[in-house]
Amino acid sequence: MILVSEVGPRDGLQSISTVMPTAAKFAWIDALVAAGVREIEVGSFVPAKLLPQLADTADVVAHARRHAGLTVAVLVPNAKGAEAALAAGAHKLTLPLSCSETHSLKNLRKTHAQVLDEARAIAALIAAQPIGQRPHFEGSLSTAFGCTLEGSVPEAQVLRLGEALLKAGCDEVGLADTTGYANPTQVRRLIRQLWDALGQDKLTGIHLHNTRGLGLANALAALDTGLSTFDSSQAGLGGCPFAPGASGNIVTEDLVFMLQSMGLDTGIDFDRLMQARQVLAAALPGEPLYGMTPQAGLPKP
Ligand code: ZN
Repeated sequence: MILVSEVGPRDGLQSISTVMPTAAKFAWIDALVAAGVREIEVGSFVPAKLLPQLADTADVVAHARRHAGLTVAVLVPNAKGAEAALAAGAHKLTLPLSCSETHSLKNLRKTHAQVLDEARAIAALIAAQPIGQRPHFEGSLSTAFGCTLEGSVPEAQVLRLGEALLKAGCDEVGLADTTGYANPTQVRRLIRQLWDALGQDKLTGIHLHNTRGLGLANALAALDTGLSTFDSSQAGLGGCPFAPGASGNIVTEDLVFMLQSMGLDTGIDFDRLMQARQVLAAALPGEPLYGMTPQAGLPKP
């Protein structure tokens, strides 16, 4: 079974200026769960003045936790965010580490060494939780395929940072094409190199963007290589400011269509996924929604 991890409520909403009302987030998450989505990144524990769109993350986590079987994931930029995530009861914490240090300094205002310090502090906070209540801790290797500031990122650097994240206490690492620079050959090569260096169970998921139209091609390359978890955003929410009409995150509807038409089980019902899209559309009037399959409809069975 393939896990489609919906990141729209975090990655999507943080990229648009409209603040979605908390009740609308609840309704959207409920609709996604009704469609069969089993993991949702519902928010990010960052200061509300930086991202007012996600200021209600603790409330959203509390609501999402009412759905049995749903993995409630959040992004945490540091140990302070992790404390809030633990208090709220998130099941999965993702700490982004930008493989490009220039991007890391600009995005999180931290060097690699400082982000790794945060990772160690977060791992200690998690270890202090009672057994059975410890969330899964992922270190996300962002800008792993290239950076808008530094250009190409050496693969040796990605491997070194992956090892460092595990050593700092992450349960696993994830690969993220934050900038939409990846191509399928590079995706295959980097997954295999990370598996060789870290072990196959230490990398199961990938976060892809469709900035240059290669999102699904890269997803297929990762799938064929053996990854089983794919981040995507309903309606490609968030868009890509550099490519009007193109989504930033890969579109959940298109990803689910691709996987299911290949005979793979995602546990997601496409018609109900479209109903969730209606809930999203109603909550964000005027916001562009993306996706080819929603526009064309499913092929005749
Ligand atoms: Zn993204």
